[in-house]
Amino acid sequence: MDGPSGTSGSPAARPLRQRLESLAAAGVSDLPGRRMRRAKTPPAGGTPAAVPAAVGDPGGRSELLRVLQVEVAGCGRCAGLARTRTQTVFGSGSPTARLCFLGEAPGADEDASGVPFVGRAGQLLTKIIEACTLSRDEVYILNVLKCRPPDNRTPSPEETANCRGYFERQLEIIAPEFICCLGTTAAQALLETDETIGKLRKRWFTWRSSQVICTYHPSYLLRNPAAKRDVWDDMKLLMARLGVRL
Ligand code: URA
Repeated sequence: MDGPSGTSGSPAARPLRQRLESLAAAGVSDLPGRRMRRAKTPPAGGTPAAVPAAVGDPGGRSELLRVLQVEVAGCGRCAGLARTRTQTVFGSGSPTARLCFLGEAPGADEDASGVPFVGRAGQLLTKIIEACTLSRDEVYILNVLKCRPPDNRTPSPEETANCRGYFERQLEIIAPEFICCLGTTAAQALLETDETIGKLRKRWFTWRSSQVICTYHPSYLLRNPAAKRDVWDDMKLLMARLGVRL
């Protein structure tokens, strides 16, 4: 069910079709009989939409992230990566997100666009997020490395160490309730462990004030579609704690 959407049927059916495509991409074939909605978080104190940004952004997270982003853009700690990158890829989404997805490093598409997870793996991540009834705008997506490793090789321990201060600071600023590590590199970097992703899945960890869960990287799913079912099981665990009913 990976085909183009919006090519047939009524416009009214499009959201449902898109959701079914997202679920199928996430490996879901069994649907509950009843669609269950995510509880909307009421605005603090009934604040209307047109309020100063700081009201909905406790601690001025947007500004803190902007300052950090400028610092990252000028980083030259990994001389080789700084030389070969088109640009740094900082992160995208909501600075007040309850959930952050942590990936490995930008690929060619991300290096070209400056936005994380926009290539094939990123499109699959978007489908997974949408299958969870969320959108990219309400979560936050970042990587361990902010520069593309040539030929998409795995980040070296030195590169991860050089970038640690950046991804940790991003997560400290956002202080999400939940972090989902995508793949071995992200899980091992955040949790500072050598355990394999297979051993880290289906367990809860704590990092600072965030609850952490680990799952397979979307690139792995592109090579091993059968593992989509495992990722969907992980998402169900995560959504249950988030209070998002699937
Ligand atoms: N893989 C990642 O880990 N991050 C991206 O941004 C893209 C692909």
